[in-house]
Amino acid sequence: MHPTLADDLSRLPELLQAARDFAAHEAVGVTERPVAAPGKAPTRTTLPEEGAGAEAALAQFAERWAPGFSGSAGPRYLGFVTGGATPASVAGDWLTSAFDQNLSGAGGSWAQELERETLAWLRGLFGLGEAHSGAFVTGATASNTVGLAIGREWLGERLGVDVSREGAAALGPVEVLSGSPHSSVAKAMSVLGLGRDRLRRVPLLPGNREAVDVAALEAELARLEGRPAIVVANAGTVNTVDFDDLRAIAALKEGYDFWLHVDAAFGAFAALSPEYAALVDGLDAADSVCVDLHKWLNVPYDAAVQFTRRRDLQVRVFHNASPYLGQPVGEPDFVHLTPENSRRLRALPAWFSLVAYGRAGHREIVERNVALARRLGAGIDALPGLRLLAPVRLNVVCFTLAEDPTQERVDALARAVAASGEAYVTPTVYGGVPGLRAAFSNWRTTEADTERVLQALAAASG
Ligand SMILES: *Cc1c(COP(=O)(O)O)cnc(C)c1O
Repeated sequence: MHPTLADDLSRLPELLQAARDFAAHEAVGVTERPVAAPGKAPTRTTLPEEGAGAEAALAQFAERWAPGFSGSAGPRYLGFVTGGATPASVAGDWLTSAFDQNLSGAGGSWAQELERETLAWLRGLFGLGEAHSGAFVTGATASNTVGLAIGREWLGERLGVDVSREGAAALGPVEVLSGSPHSSVAKAMSVLGLGRDRLRRVPLLPGNREAVDVAALEAELARLEGRPAIVVANAGTVNTVDFDDLRAIAALKEGYDFWLHVDAAFGAFAALSPEYAALVDGLDAADSVCVDLHKWLNVPYDAAVQFTRRRDLQVRVFHNASPYLGQPVGEPDFVHLTPENSRRLRALPAWFSLVAYGRAGHREIVERNVALARRLGAGIDALPGLRLLAPVRLNVVCFTLAEDPTQERVDALARAVAASGEAYVTPTVYGGVPGLRAAFSNWRTTEADTERVLQALAAASG
């Protein structure tokens, strides 16, 4: 063993303790650190020939890089849809690394059963029944990709084509219909050989909505004259958190042949609150469902789940049979269900958080975030320099400058807010108008934080 490595091994407890102390300091201090770090990153150094040991690596990281890391895990980073990491989930994440299990399959470990237990809990949390099986993936983009891959295989089943063997081209042109799809759906279609251009936008409901017009969707399906299609329904759009009518879309299955994939990346969390659960009514009817966990469950990156009613088709797409991996028999190992072969125990942070805070704890996060989004929305509405672009439907506030909201001026506003260090919001274009979004999904955000965000917006727009 290299002497530096041997030295680190002999001092393993102290080294982990030092990393723990540093992490604890940073995690506590994130509420007061500048939310964004717009400055220039340090210049790169060269790969050292002789290593310095873990202690020196920690010191170098703390000095050179950590000061430029954002406060994205903190309470006033409202860009994209960015969750933080609950205390229990961080502990679970550390232990994932410490135990370093390979979740491709059982491999002489109980860890795969822990992932299955966690998936069953999550299924219940989102109101899905036993017909849905799940798997952990890295994020909603991967989850959408897996869901659409299973849908692609289903198209093959309907058309008498074995897509996993013959390739997507054997399907001929594929129709993917959606109202307000997330950009990751087009990316998934590119990856899957379906083609980004095959994503057909279905008209939306009138009146400043992002939800699909179900009558228009039906008309599009009728036009296919019996040819099977994929419908991507959206439960929680990123600009205004609008929800497609999942029940009504699922009811169309009686007359039309389609695979129903629901992108509920963060919208699925509406199911946790009796007040908002109706928004995802019908989710259980989906053939495949995408839910992110590193957003509103507040576990560390990278974690999401993918649920489907057709695990048989999923195995057809993803099976990785070889004499050394074994055949997919009985309940398939995860190696046969997702794009990865080797996988980390991504379920453990979620398991920790669910055990630690339960349904009630996670419901409180969702309800508090929604209440704070409404509060910020009302505050923005009252500011002379800003106006809302849409009503605050759930946890995102979509707004712009009251006057002359050009891309340039809106970008400048976003930069000024980031430079204040007080808050971070990210740009969008809604209804053709450049604007900004403030998305609430962090477990730590308080009323006082929301007030500080409002003050920062007032100062930057005033
Ligand atoms: C965030 C998001 C995605 C992509 O999620 P990643 O975890 O970043 O891959 C997909 N769909 C919706 C609706 C989202 O909000």
